[in-house]
Amino acid sequence: ATPTSIMVGTGRAAETGVLFRRGEALQSLRDAAVVAVDKTGTLTKGRPELTDLIPAPGFEADKVLALVAAVEARSEHPVAEAIAEAARRRGLSLDEAEAFEAVPGYGVAATVAGRRVEVGADRYMARLGHDVAASAEAAVRLGDEGKTPLYAAVDGRLAAAIAVADPIKETTPAAVEALHRLGLKVAMVTGDNRRTAEAIARRLGIDEVAAEVLPDGKVAVIERLKDGGRRKVAFVGDGINDAPALAAADVGLAVGTGTDIAIESADVVLMSGDLRGVPNAIALSQATMRNIR
Ligand code: ADP
Ligand code: MG
Repeated sequence: ATPTSIMVGTGRAAETGVLFRRGEALQSLRDAAVVAVDKTGTLTKGRPELTDLIPAPGFEADKVLALVAAVEARSEHPVAEAIAEAARRRGLSLDEAEAFEAVPGYGVAATVAGRRVEVGADRYMARLGHDVAASAEAAVRLGDEGKTPLYAAVDGRLAAAIAVADPIKETTPAAVEALHRLGLKVAMVTGDNRRTAEAIARRLGIDEVAAEVLPDGKVAVIERLKDGGRRKVAFVGDGINDAPALAAADVGLAVGTGTDIAIESADVVLMSGDLRGVPNAIALSQATMRNIR
């Protein structure tokens, strides 16, 4: 590609809100065969809402919610925001949480009014040695509905199954369709529950799912998709834990509404967070590179 054609191409992309931080990315994008996409905040809005709280026998919904919200008040995870908002809406007053602890990719714990409260994914409960059998069926159903199932434990006993749902961005279905029309495969990469991820992938027609990926596991997924360099992989993400994968991909695209670290690690920035920028940029790169050969 000539420097001029790349300048013209990246200039045209900028008009549609797609910023190339590295001009060479225009060339690499043309050869992309797979677009891997982070789920939370990239495919979805990243602003989940609490949809269900099913107390275990012997527990009361509002009491469990108040305990869990007290713990989540100390967390910055999107799930925490959803739970805090639900407690606010119900007008619950929260006790102070002490000895707060966050286990990335698993959940959070703290002591609230003298009671040990833990909330997180099924793997967190497994790691703590808690029996979740009583709520496992509910969690499966919630996951199949595309909601993220969580468990709460109080003093070592299962207290509730909880679900949050994060709506898909309005622009996401059209973006996935456009990528398919361009002949690319679309893969989802997420730390979320497998059933939840698969339900959302089904809705969007996404080809491959890597779910329950721990925060430092996204790079390994990108490497696997690259298939020893036989496939060019683009990765789209927004979070702090997406930064290594953005750097490891052949082309990293950050959502402009995401974290600074993601943007700094990316080759391309989608200014508005509209995923349709990805197929637009790929179509443009194909057109630009065609013109100059
Ligand atoms: P993602 O951003 O894709 O959801 P994370 O690695 O941040 O991935 O989290 C993975 C899972 O760990 C979440 O889906 C949730 O089940 C659990 N988790 C993480 N942080 C919290 C929290 N503050 N409260 C409850 N659950 C949490
Ligand atoms: Mg994200």
